Amino acid sequence: MATEQSFDEDPYRIAQQQFDEAAEHLGLEAGMRDILRSINRELTVNFPVYMDDGSLRVFTGYRVQHNLARGPAKGGIRYHPQVTLNEVRALAMWMTWKCAVVNIPFGGAKGGVQCNPKVMSDKELERLTRRYTTEISILLGPESDIPAPDVYTNARTMGWIMDTYSMHKGYSVPGVVTGKPLSIGGSVGRVDATGRGCAHVIAAAAQYRGMPLDGTTVVIQGFGNVGTSAAQILAERGCKIIAVSDSQGGVYQAQGLDIPALLKHKQRTGSVKGFPGSEALTSEESLEVPCDILIPAALENQITERNASRLRAKIIAEAANGPTTPGADKILEDRGILILPDILANAGGVAVSYFEWVQNLQSLAWKEAQVHAQLQEIMEAAFAAVRDIADEHGVGMRTAAQMLAIQRVVQATLDRGVYP
Ligand code: NAD
Repeated sequence: MATEQSFDEDPYRIAQQQFDEAAEHLGLEAGMRDILRSINRELTVNFPVYMDDGSLRVFTGYRVQHNLARGPAKGGIRYHPQVTLNEVRALAMWMTWKCAVVNIPFGGAKGGVQCNPKVMSDKELERLTRRYTTEISILLGPESDIPAPDVYTNARTMGWIMDTYSMHKGYSVPGVVTGKPLSIGGSVGRVDATGRGCAHVIAAAAQYRGMPLDGTTVVIQGFGNVGTSAAQILAERGCKIIAVSDSQGGVYQAQGLDIPALLKHKQRTGSVKGFPGSEALTSEESLEVPCDILIPAALENQITERNASRLRAKIIAEAANGPTTPGADKILEDRGILILPDILANAGGVAVSYFEWVQNLQSLAWKEAQVHAQLQEIMEAAFAAVRDIADEHGVGMRTAAQMLAIQRVVQATLDRGVYP
């Protein structure tokens, strides 16, 4: 997956291509286009970490802020061997649009470290996280740039970031990061927020298409934070999760997988592979299983011109960022498959991150019911706004979501004016 990228699969090129298409529909003026398709700030850091065997290794990391017109920079931190600057740039740009689609007052950022957390010990990961946080701390702060979890980082990683930043300041600064453990200012409902938000958007889309959720068949690629919560919530709402895959392989069961049992199996063995009573399939094959709803929840460039014509889903809900290339988009659109784009479908995570940040700034804690209700309201409003633009302009949901977001960032840029 995403080992060698062709020119057409460079995520930053894709993000800019998507932007250009939406900007064209909006008739955006050239100067404004230049502002919005460029990255505002990017920092590359090379830093040493002591490994457990006493050796020193230098790691490369990035923090990129795409646009700050609507507020402080917000975006996750990814640990993965194939992290590149262009990938982080694309993810930062998508964060700007995502925050604007759900209308929360943040700009877009992203971070990443090239490393393989699967072969690193907890102590090595902690040292890496603390040093990386220190290296990028010139950008971080609750008023300036607020990280969150992404691929192969989690609440524990966020705890280390919060503690490192706070040690430098000399006092606790919970609002510098979201997705933290509850004990240090995390929010209830954050862990499953992306999956829950995705489920709200799927429910709204299914209703729009006249498809009852009960008995709907679902396939999920990626069984981490987002994939597992989407699976649990959709199963609770009556969907049949018939196939699931992770980095080591996939499983299929026509009558629907028992999700709580599959979660236990993954906890015990480290993978969904070999789940009793299921048929084995590869991650690539899982994408082609006939189903009502396909949820890519792993990494970029999974749905390309190579496999788009073989997909058998009615709706694709992009829980992952950038899973579909523009070439594949066109094929899917021509085939009448409804795409719920990443900047809409996975925005639930950043919405609840925003709630967490607000709670931290006010030093209070919301009840779970409040988090759930406000998340649902935000996701349903965003879906309706995107659907209206798609209907009005006769464009796909991706372009419509980009148009909505770009318009909001343009408005903020115009209202602020250009300094000096
Ligand atoms: P995670 O690290 O918790 O899980 C990633 C999952 O992807 C793992 O199950 C892994 O095994 C699987 N995976 C990796 N390679 C795979 C392959 N070749 N085939 C199938 N599965 C594979 O990460 P996450 O936080 O769940 O993030 C998943 C996606 O969702 C990413 O694109 C991320 O940017 C996006 N996202 C995450 C959040 C969030 O709140 N965590 C928010 C918005 C978007």
